[in-house]
Amino acid sequence: SAETAMLPAWDAVEGAERARELFATTFGGEAEGVWSAPGRVNIVGEHTDYNGGLALPIALPHRTYVAVARRSDRRLRLVSSAADGVAEVDLDAVGPVGTAGEVTGWPSYVAGVAWALEQEGLASGLPGLDVAVVSCVPTGSGLSSSAALSCSVAVAWDELAGLGLAGPADDPSDAGRADLVTACVRAENEIAGAPTGGMDQAAALRAREGDALLLDCRDGSVEHVPLDLAEAALELLVVDTRAEHSHAGGEYGQRRATCEAAAKVLGVPDLRTVAEAHVHSQDTLDHVLPRLADDEQRKRVRHVVTEIDRVEYVVARLRDSSRAPLHGATLENIAWALDASHNSLRDDYEVSCRELDLAVDAARGSWAHAARMTGGGFGGSAIALVDTRHLDEVTAAVAKAFADADLRAPAFLRAVAAAPAGRTA
Ligand code: ADP
Ligand code: MG
Repeated sequence: SAETAMLPAWDAVEGAERARELFATTFGGEAEGVWSAPGRVNIVGEHTDYNGGLALPIALPHRTYVAVARRSDRRLRLVSSAADGVAEVDLDAVGPVGTAGEVTGWPSYVAGVAWALEQEGLASGLPGLDVAVVSCVPTGSGLSSSAALSCSVAVAWDELAGLGLAGPADDPSDAGRADLVTACVRAENEIAGAPTGGMDQAAALRAREGDALLLDCRDGSVEHVPLDLAEAALELLVVDTRAEHSHAGGEYGQRRATCEAAAKVLGVPDLRTVAEAHVHSQDTLDHVLPRLADDEQRKRVRHVVTEIDRVEYVVARLRDSSRAPLHGATLENIAWALDASHNSLRDDYEVSCRELDLAVDAARGSWAHAARMTGGGFGGSAIALVDTRHLDEVTAAVAKAFADADLRAPAFLRAVAAAPAGRTA
């Protein structure tokens, strides 16, 4: 039925065609090339990035495509199928939010990349660009359309200005890509004014097709963990609740501040350090929680410590399963950890909301092995681990739960571990 239709991911040919067509009709002439970057979904490890912790995202098959041509000046002309009109930006006038150089709206995600590359000393005197943006990543759904945009532009500039950071498609440079991540994070934080911890940009630039990305947010190191769900006849179903609660930004800031305050009380640089103090997280909690200032700090710290533990646990189980398909006890253990992650985010970190809990409960009440919210919370998306043969029943159950609750119909995506940012055509 229409309600349960999956949001399709364009293939490279379709994405490139759409981008080139928008370029031609807007600017006339031909683009020099098309670059693209994926959205991402996090399997486990939520609100751990700013605590120096671990996260486990995959790149989505849903991507943002940019058709780009260099200009002979330092101007940007930008068009997106998701926005009206053509935006113009002078690269020499760009500055951080709150200064005279502030760039408003979506062009800040593009202009910010050039600004940050130059601030970081990774580039100087970058050329202006004409850019046409098309995307099949849902926007504002916690699937990181913002990093898909900034990272697609970053790899375009990298190649067109000969920076050599991303490396060739058949031999990507992880060190150079880590530099591009730094620039894209600064673009979002300082020019777009969006608080973001770095997981989104790392997934878009450093993930590998067929693998989940184990990201260590303390030192920025990554490992690639094979994730072959198809082999086990499993699906990672993404439910975009289409809910967005306006207080999300303030709550995010409060959670970060509480974690920082707790780390200070404990005399550690970050909560990751606490999580590592003992082999078993229960021992850690027994030692640490009584020393904290209040119940709020205790709940937040309990989430972060146990969530980091769950990332390590899931990664260990996935590595077990690289020798045999994901099933039986291994699958049950992963499912247990994903369910526990949601419960911790709902009860201890208190960042879930009605729509996310409804999606999770409906999926679990149907055939899902596990379900959890993903991303920062207060709206956005949930994920469910589902046998392929039960996919339709689970999407129908979630859609029905939303209809019964008089909520806007959710959207559904199938997530598989896809390729990182690069040149498409
Ligand atoms: P998310 O990254 O979870 O999708 P954000 O609020 O971080 O949500 O980013 C969404 C913003 O990114 C949009 O409001 C817009 O400014 C910008 N953006 C993302 N994709 C596009 C696009 N295809 N065209 C124009 N702007 C986009
Ligand atoms: Mg974003």
